[in-house]
Amino acid sequence: MGREALIGELKKIVGDRYVLTEKEDVIVYEQDGSIIQAMPEIVVLPADGGQVSAVVQLAGRENIPVVPRGSGTGLAGGAVPAEGGILLSLARLNRILAIDLKNRIAIVEPGVINLELTQAVAGDGYFYAPDPSSQAACSVGGNVANNSGGPHTLAYGVTTNHVLGVEVVLSSGEIVWLGGVVPDSPGYDLCGIFVGSEGTLGIVTKAVVRLMRARETVGTLLAVFTDLEPAIRTVVDITAAGIIPAALEMMDHQTIEAVESGAPVGYPRDAAAVLLVEVEGVREYSERSLSLLRGICSANGAREVRIAQSEAERQLLWKGRKGAFGAMGAVAPNYYVQDGVVPRSRLPEIMRFVGEVSERFGIKIANVFHAGDGNLHPNILFDLRKPGELERVIEASAEILRACVELGGSITGEHGIGLEKKAYIGLLFTTEDLEAMQRVRRAFDPYSRFNPAKLFPTPSGCGEIRGQQARLPAGLWI
Ligand SMILES: Cc1cc2nc3c(=O)[nH]c(=O)nc-3n(C[C@H](O)[C@H](O)[C@H](O)COP(=O)(O)OP(=O)(O)OC[C@H]3O[C@@H](n4cnc5c(N)ncnc54)[C@H](O)[C@@H]3O)c2cc1C
Repeated sequence: MGREALIGELKKIVGDRYVLTEKEDVIVYEQDGSIIQAMPEIVVLPADGGQVSAVVQLAGRENIPVVPRGSGTGLAGGAVPAEGGILLSLARLNRILAIDLKNRIAIVEPGVINLELTQAVAGDGYFYAPDPSSQAACSVGGNVANNSGGPHTLAYGVTTNHVLGVEVVLSSGEIVWLGGVVPDSPGYDLCGIFVGSEGTLGIVTKAVVRLMRARETVGTLLAVFTDLEPAIRTVVDITAAGIIPAALEMMDHQTIEAVESGAPVGYPRDAAAVLLVEVEGVREYSERSLSLLRGICSANGAREVRIAQSEAERQLLWKGRKGAFGAMGAVAPNYYVQDGVVPRSRLPEIMRFVGEVSERFGIKIANVFHAGDGNLHPNILFDLRKPGELERVIEASAEILRACVELGGSITGEHGIGLEKKAYIGLLFTTEDLEAMQRVRRAFDPYSRFNPAKLFPTPSGCGEIRGQQARLPAGLWI
């Protein structure tokens, strides 16, 4: 079938308005939150699972790729249509279908915005726990695909801990349920395999998610440090003392500078680092934990420990943290955020290494991260217009990721592999491991039609890429 005939068939399925082909329309889908771009050929916006299935069947008959997209906030190029085909936006599947407080679950379509789910149940004293810092924009479907985390996953776990079942469209167009409305469905945990599969196994068209009861009290503390090392030591000491805060986040001087230059919230500009720590529970527990935390921070030399006195003050402290990536624009034309992980106890070493990399490459790095999870987010600040700068940035980030692996960690904590990290996956897995994963993929999607070019290195590269630096996939431009 020729291109025009294909577009005609797609319009019959979803309606004329919902098939985009003009450059000025599709250009907004050429990139996610990462620095990787590829111009889509055709963007299709179905309204429901039936339309998704019909589009997938058509793509199957025509043997063309289908790239699912939620809100496009991903940071690994996962929703970028690297090999053309149909870019399938799930944005119109945005209904909360059911809220069942007795069973503490909600059934949602994938385009529902993460924060809107919590807002829908907050009045009844519930919330949806996975809270990526992008939660005001990212979709539940994207969260499921990336198994996303967030500041509060230290206490609550990541998305997979909160998804009981998913309705998915397979590459045949068949609509099936994996998991269900109760925990621990019998048989293989296919829902578990699906969560975190980055759009390579099928399209999520509904999800059953857990709702959590809001805690009686929430205590939030900002600890201010004049040096970075004591702040990092404090993170290790807090967890070593047996306290598991709901959130334990760190921002360094560069990040504070960005936040205060972009959308100020009152973080002290002269600090080397701040820790944002939150505890939740019954009043006695929160008060006791805050007092213990204050003691640990002070023992490590915190020059100030500020406890939020009102919900407004708490929200302001979080506004700075959740807006930190966006604020990087106030201090640099471009930034490249990395997502390495190390065991918490290795945080001092990795942060020293990040500092060394920054000096050696002569580039500024702003660190804002889920310190309690050992999940780093070095934001490498740069200017794309300067020749050779991007290459240095990619080289610097490769060094950081390699160091994370050497320290017993991983190349991604929550942003996924997507396009960006597939060249590094050989640092963690053998060729045989990757082939086993490919067999799982083919069991769901025999022709690798969903989100091709993601997750796995190109076949000839599997063995070769070990230890090599990342390359942008051929055909992509930035
Ligand atoms: C400022 C900022 C802060 C962030 N903070 C965090 C954070 O704290 N924690 C964190 O984990 N991430 C964070 N992220 C990354 C990002 O927001 C998450 O990965 C998020 O889950 C992506 O959701 P999305 O709807 O934007 O998905 P997209 O970017 O559109 O897609 C992400 C992946 O999911 C696939 N996909 C999307 N929808 C579906 C579907 N219905 N079915 C199958 N596959 C699908 C896509 O193909 C792609 O591979 C942040 C990003 C930004 C820009």
